[in-house]
Amino acid sequence: MRKVLHFDSPREKYLCDASVVGCFDNRFDTACRKLLKRSGIAQPDPNKIAGGAKALASPEQEFHRTFVLDQIYKSIRLHGTDRVILMLHSDCGAYGGLSGRFQGDSGVETAHYHTELAAATAFLKSAIPGIKVESFILDFEGAWVVEESATAAAQGTTSSIFPDPASTAFARPDR
Ligand SMILES: [Zn+2]
Repeated sequence: MRKVLHFDSPREKYLCDASVVGCFDNRFDTACRKLLKRSGIAQPDPNKIAGGAKALASPEQEFHRTFVLDQIYKSIRLHGTDRVILMLHSDCGAYGGLSGRFQGDSGVETAHYHTELAAATAFLKSAIPGIKVESFILDFEGAWVVEESATAAAQGTTSSIFPDPASTAFARPDR
């Protein structure tokens, strides 16, 4: 082996402020980091995956949801996480894009994202009782917090997805 970088990484274990589920779209990387900093999250455990919180709300494959849930469990077990940050962003390819699926209408896109974040929140809260969940939408002008009341209202429109929270809860892996 040949050393190509010298850098002293911290050896101490850390407590994670929040497990963050967001898209890997690099256009929003800086906004995401600034938002976390503003939210007081100095030590996140990031889950950067295509579509972000979509994996929990409306996964293309069910194992996407299982995988993300498992990552959050590991963040809890290894780093004491008690908070999850869910993110979606405008013009996300996983949703078909702003100009494609939403025909350039950011209002329609936002409304759909509210429904998605409500579904993701309901899923997480049923799978991990007591977990704190916060939802954000990133767009080309900044970041927007989605108030719990908004996701609860949107959840009313998605009740068919989660008719019984217990039926969608995954068995908690051994910890
Ligand atoms: Zn995306």
